[in-house]
Amino acid sequence: MSMPLVHLCMPPPEAEKPWLLESYRKRGGYSSWSRVLDGKLKAAEILRAVKDSGLRGRGGAGFPTGLKWSFMPSDCEQPSYLVCNSDESEPGTCHDRDILRYNPHVLIEGMALAAYAMGASVGYNYIRGEFLGEPVPRFLAALEEARAAGLIGRGLGKAKVDFELHPFVGAGAYICGEETGLLESLEGKPGKPRFKPPFPAQSGLYGRPTTVNNTQTLASVPAILQNGSEWFKALGAPNSAGTMIYSVSGHVERPGNYEAPLGVSFNDLLEHAGGVWKGRQLKAVIPGGSSVPVLPAEIIRECAMDYDSLSKAGSALGTGAVIVMDETTCMVSALRRIARFYYAESCGQCTPCREGTGWLYRMLTRMLEGRAQAADLDLLLNVANNIEGHTICALGDAAAWPVQSFLKHFRPEFEAKIRSSASQREAAYA
Ligand code: SF4
Repeated sequence: MSMPLVHLCMPPPEAEKPWLLESYRKRGGYSSWSRVLDGKLKAAEILRAVKDSGLRGRGGAGFPTGLKWSFMPSDCEQPSYLVCNSDESEPGTCHDRDILRYNPHVLIEGMALAAYAMGASVGYNYIRGEFLGEPVPRFLAALEEARAAGLIGRGLGKAKVDFELHPFVGAGAYICGEETGLLESLEGKPGKPRFKPPFPAQSGLYGRPTTVNNTQTLASVPAILQNGSEWFKALGAPNSAGTMIYSVSGHVERPGNYEAPLGVSFNDLLEHAGGVWKGRQLKAVIPGGSSVPVLPAEIIRECAMDYDSLSKAGSALGTGAVIVMDETTCMVSALRRIARFYYAESCGQCTPCREGTGWLYRMLTRMLEGRAQAADLDLLLNVANNIEGHTICALGDAAAWPVQSFLKHFRPEFEAKIRSSASQREAAYA
């Protein structure tokens, strides 16, 4: 196996109780934050290092993190905020909960460094409601440890730095993972995405400048400060610096989270996950969470798992959630399952999304129940095309892209499904 596993965000397996402060400190944790508190590391240096590292947001969009931070006003006298998005809900994605569960201090340090770099003295971590099992208690315990150790609070260290960090547990809605829906929810309102502009850096939480970053993005920051931007860049591929925690699920022998350099080949990643289960053949893969386009085996087998390679192949790295489907998968059924999810999670503000997602789900159900006509495939595509790009937030696109890509690569299977249902119907009436 040529792919090395790495441990920037996920602690090494041999680390003892890696969620404890003592264990994190043994691994070099809080060394950069301590330099800030000693007045030896300045905000501008942190911003420069993160910009130079080429770190891109791991929450799905892949926007350059340092550039996003630089949108925050530097001369702001009123409060500005850093918000961490731990509302991980994209189907197939399960790495942020493991950062909260196994390495919460790396996130706290990452948030502290990020907030300091942007001049924000208050941070919130918005955590998905379903994480009440292990992730939330571990994060809360780590926060208490950090506070007791003088790492979080007011007037910290020689430099008298302020950084308050508040946890917030959501109620389990997918749409609160969208950054402005998250901010609405954090303000105590229904999680309905806002029109943009204004962007959160101008008017975010409580109308103040705010940056929202994903959990894994912020958890990558301490390693960048500790080892340098060049080191981080060299770990990954061109335009895809660093590592990614790939959540591999579906028809594999060993589903799980695998942290590896960006640019790892799909074949290596699959091998780490034990290969396709039961000795079956690979049929298709959704490489970045359920909203990104599906790729058939012959394309994904040639791909490196990074931003540019997957985009060139017609899909996206997204959240790094790799959903593997074996040769027995019914693509009509798989697509209906995805469509059901977006239909259920639409917040209902925009007509194309509210109505269109329901249409997609009902038409796919018709196909599976043998009530569809051949012309329905074009209608299905037409509905998807009319949702894409016509909504307030990206949930509309997330509902449309699977339909477009499943039909692009597997249309004959959909046609066969409709034909076989039609002949069964005719036989029943004969
Ligand atoms: Fe709500 Fe869907 Fe519109 Fe997003 S696209 S704002 S989820 S209705």
